[in-house]
Amino acid sequence: MKIAIYPGSFDPMTLGHLNIIRRTSKIFDKVIVCIMINGNKKGSMFSIDRRVEQAKICTAHMPNVEIDSYDGLLADYARKFDKPVIVKGLRANMDFENEFTMASINKKLNPDMETMFLTASDKYTFVSSSNVKEIARHGGDLKAFLPWELIDEVTEMAQKGKEK
Ligand code: ADP
Repeated sequence: MKIAIYPGSFDPMTLGHLNIIRRTSKIFDKVIVCIMINGNKKGSMFSIDRRVEQAKICTAHMPNVEIDSYDGLLADYARKFDKPVIVKGLRANMDFENEFTMASINKKLNPDMETMFLTASDKYTFVSSSNVKEIARHGGDLKAFLPWELIDEVTEMAQKGKEK
């Protein structure tokens, strides 16, 4: 069984992430979306448990997609599987350098793992979790950015954050 791991923060999951998940699920037998507990990204909007719940809700219609979370190195998480492929999304002008470096580091740490990239759909190349949070803070329309299931929750959370 060929397994893809799609790692990220998913704080929150956007339509761009979902587009990558859907396309990956057509290529691989199983896709594991792994919500990484990332010490570099401070000030998360949602807890890991909530992000796992959100991701489950948004991918419920895709039978070969599973949601997991991991506190540690992706290279170590990948050891749980037989030759898994790491899938990443590449947005124009945004991701290349960082993702190239990460893929090289991961290959050094775990030579069994390969990283593959899917280019972002032109519909979502401008979408990121951080710009979603900024738009939500200012009460903007999130329909083009977020799965409908998350719009109210993200808007409420962003507005609460403003009150603090
Ligand atoms: P973000 O950069 O939005 O905070 P993550 O750290 O959760 O997102 O990203 C996880 C993966 O998803 C990364 O490979 C990232 O490049 C990719 N990704 C994020 N947003 C998009 C998008 N709009 N289209 C395609 N890939 C994306």
